[in-house]
Amino acid sequence: MSTSVVILGAGYAGAHAARRALAQGATVTVVDPDGHHAFTPRFAAVAAGRAPVGDLAAPLDGLLDVEVVADLAVAIDPDERTVTLGSGSTLRYEALVVTTGADAAAPPVEGLAAHGHGLASVEDTVAVRELVRRLAGPDTDGGPLGLIVIGGGATGVQLAAEIAHHRPTVPVTLVEQQPRLLPTEPGPLRRGARRILRAAGVEVLLGRAVARVDADGLELADGTWLDGVVVWAGGWRARGSALLPDVPTENGRLRVGPDLTVRGLDGVFAAGDTAAHHDPFGGELPMSAQIAAQAGEVAGHNAVAWAAGRHHRRALLLELGRVLDLGGGVGVARVGPVRLARRPLDRLVPALHLAIDLRHLWQLGGVTGVLRHGPGRAQTVARDGVRHLRAVG
Ligand SMILES: Cc1cc2nc3c(=O)[nH]c(=O)nc-3n(C[C@H](O)[C@H](O)[C@H](O)COP(=O)(O)OP(=O)(O)OC[C@H]3O[C@@H](n4cnc5c(N)ncnc54)[C@H](O)[C@@H]3O)c2cc1C
Repeated sequence: MSTSVVILGAGYAGAHAARRALAQGATVTVVDPDGHHAFTPRFAAVAAGRAPVGDLAAPLDGLLDVEVVADLAVAIDPDERTVTLGSGSTLRYEALVVTTGADAAAPPVEGLAAHGHGLASVEDTVAVRELVRRLAGPDTDGGPLGLIVIGGGATGVQLAAEIAHHRPTVPVTLVEQQPRLLPTEPGPLRRGARRILRAAGVEVLLGRAVARVDADGLELADGTWLDGVVVWAGGWRARGSALLPDVPTENGRLRVGPDLTVRGLDGVFAAGDTAAHHDPFGGELPMSAQIAAQAGEVAGHNAVAWAAGRHHRRALLLELGRVLDLGGGVGVARVGPVRLARRPLDRLVPALHLAIDLRHLWQLGGVTGVLRHGPGRAQTVARDGVRHLRAVG
């Protein structure tokens, strides 16, 4: 009988864990609230209105031969080897992979939770897209006229640039409390992104903290008032520790061993944003789709190996680069030592972004995956899972 692997979460880590476990003949069940695999790197383009809503996500069982349980995992019992679901039912596993990702972690700024919008989920993105569409239209119902993005990391930069390029009538302001954008990126990428934002007409405010947010805009710590709809594109907080409260964490992410076993729990693995991953030199790796996919592959392999009593693979995770499509046919990227951030090389970045996107689809769903869910194609798929996405877009 084949090994039964249960995976919690259908994101980048979960999908790649499922792919690897399937390749070894396991029976795979994936638990996820709506059973969709969300393509987060496409969110900014969809929010801006450049890409269709169907680009946001695909039903995981349309890409991989897995059973999807549309539910939320609420508790894990490692002794009984069961997962309790929000519906009250339980699932038994031989090996478990926790890939529940991260939530947007907004700072305790007055009014931000009540009035700020996010870009952390498909629903968030559809809501921002609608706001942007209204701001770009002739009738704004007397509401704010512009958009303010808080957070000068990759998501904020991408969102601000995409909207400015695609909706040039919408004034866009990007506020970052650090003195620089993309603080973890090398100088050429930071400068390239700044140049592209400037050319697109985004007002960039650096070293400016936000003190208060309301429905009409925000107040900076120095008392300046900015009028606009506020979108928070800041930090993230891992989710796995809610399911495994006794497991030690590192910056909120579950501590895992070199083979991605959750420390102290036989047969339980964790991968992606929810786990603390390190490069071969011990440096903590960022939360990213590429690391989640790499880690998912190892966790999926080791889950099956553990159940079969076979040797575990050590996770050798590497950040290979960073690719930011900024809309308007330009972007910034680094691939190993190569930087694409100056003209005219910045024009290669969208093609690179597309190639990575298609490779991911190819790995999960082969030719069918690419044909059904490549950018702009999801509207041709008549599955219940994406119907609600198309309805709004
Ligand atoms: C707007 C945006 C743009 C991004 N752009 C890029 C990019 O260009 N490049 C890049 O490398 N990274 C990018 N990232 C980061 C990247 O999306 C994440 O690092 C990556 O998705 C992590 O994969 P994951 O599988 O760990 O988590 P996720 O992909 O977030 O998947 C987690 C899944 O778990 C599910 N889940 C949560 N709780 C439970 C539960 N209790 N039970 C069952 N299921 C649960 C969630 O619904 C979700 O489907 C971006 C992120 C955002 C938000």
